[in-house]
Amino acid sequence: MPELFVDGEWRAAADGGTRDLVDPGTGRVFCTVDEAGATDAEAAVLAARRCFDEGSWPATPVAERAALLHRTADLLQRDREEIAHTETTDTGKTLAESRIDVDDVTAVFRYYAEQALVEVDRTVDVGRDDVVSRVVHLPVGVCTLIAPWNYPLLQMSWKVAPALAAGNTVVLKPSEVTPLTTVLLVRLLAEAGAPAGAVNLILGGGAAVGPTLTTHPAVDLVSFTGGLVTGRGILEAAAPTVKRVTVELGGKNPNIVFADVDLDTAVDVVLTGVFLHSGQVCSSGTRLIVEDSIADALVAGVAERAPRIRFGHGMAEGVESGPLVSAAHREKVESYVAIGLAEGARLVTGGKRPDDPALQDGFFFEPTVFDHCDRSMRVVREENFGPILTVERFTTEAEAIELANDTEYGLAGGVQTADVARGERVAAALRHGTVWINDFGPYVPQAEWGGMKMSGNGRELGPAGLAEYRETKHVWRNTTPAVAGWFKG
Ligand code: NAD
Repeated sequence: MPELFVDGEWRAAADGGTRDLVDPGTGRVFCTVDEAGATDAEAAVLAARRCFDEGSWPATPVAERAALLHRTADLLQRDREEIAHTETTDTGKTLAESRIDVDDVTAVFRYYAEQALVEVDRTVDVGRDDVVSRVVHLPVGVCTLIAPWNYPLLQMSWKVAPALAAGNTVVLKPSEVTPLTTVLLVRLLAEAGAPAGAVNLILGGGAAVGPTLTTHPAVDLVSFTGGLVTGRGILEAAAPTVKRVTVELGGKNPNIVFADVDLDTAVDVVLTGVFLHSGQVCSSGTRLIVEDSIADALVAGVAERAPRIRFGHGMAEGVESGPLVSAAHREKVESYVAIGLAEGARLVTGGKRPDDPALQDGFFFEPTVFDHCDRSMRVVREENFGPILTVERFTTEAEAIELANDTEYGLAGGVQTADVARGERVAAALRHGTVWINDFGPYVPQAEWGGMKMSGNGRELGPAGLAEYRETKHVWRNTTPAVAGWFKG
């Protein structure tokens, strides 16, 4: 079956384009998919426009839209194993992580099915008996939804579920590196009963289809998750048509550890925070900012455990971490190891490809720790999106906060301390969209996710994640029209 979905039909690319997909765990091509061009992208946008303007989806009663989301959630669970296997082959992440992703995504669809029904329209008391004033909410229109490769199904679902719940029509553009679970999701949405044109799918490279999807006058909103440079380009591209644009971008996330913690627990939090999914997590805790008096012990603890992380193909039993997503990405991560060394950071562990003969074909890279870093270093400041932990030291709470906020990003951060008041104080002072106290990483559908500063400008999840896809309109009705008498002539 072809992989592009336009106006309710599966089709191949107009120009016959295809792309080979590579299993990051083996380095081998495992399938070939259709690859769209600008013509296909425009067809998808116009199909979404027609569906929106003719009203089949936006006019569907909200309870029916919610029911479709619930049916999709049921289907995600029905196909959980197939989806998880596909995600693992495409991204390299472990099967356990992929299963968690499917469950999380299911919860997101259910959450927005319920959230869609929450009344947000209101009447306004304007202080006059002859006026009825209402504030109502409407779908924005045609939404382009663009996702990255690290959490393909999850990031796309954070967009699709609220966009459809609000009555928008959508064009999905997954990463060309990992598009397969989005194809499965669109199949399920179609099976669940999405009308033709409500959901469209375009696979393709950003340069080939991105301009059409982000500049076309028929598109009302662009929701993008990905890198800072791409996001900035999309903001500029969408500006001439004044589209609504939300961007969820990168992070360089601090994890502050005070000396009063339980050391073993802190080691574990730091390790999980930075090395999960080989560091390919936007909220990965890559900057360890540790109180000087325990720094040596904490770094030693992390350096002792990091090499024991069990690598392998994501599908293999007992594997704790998979490879990096591509050869090109591994080269980027390696370039940051070279940068760190050149800047004088002290390599404590990792920094290279594993020696294990069984891991030579995939894009594996050892968990890496750089001690004695400072914030002027590029390895500390720039997102490399790999398994690299940098260590900075502090002596006072104020210094820790100052270090943690000294980044152009502001996605997520953590503070580990036994002192509840201090934890709350530091959390309040951090300019990051999510702050974990004595933890690092959890999120839930009910709580907003997004970045401050150059980590982004919108919010996903939570009620705000639905509000992104709604227009607000004020309707003023004069019940007893009369001459105003303002102009006398
Ligand atoms: P990327 O910016 O290279 O690509 C993201 C998506 O944009 C892909 O689908 C790509 O094809 C598309 N794209 C590229 N050029 C485009 C263009 N000109 N117009 C339209 N679309 C275009 O990012 P990536 O490498 O896929 O993902 C990694 C990045 O994503 C990291 O920076 C990471 O921090 C970020 N990320 C952020 C969050 C978050 O919630 N803030 C979550 C996950 C990933």
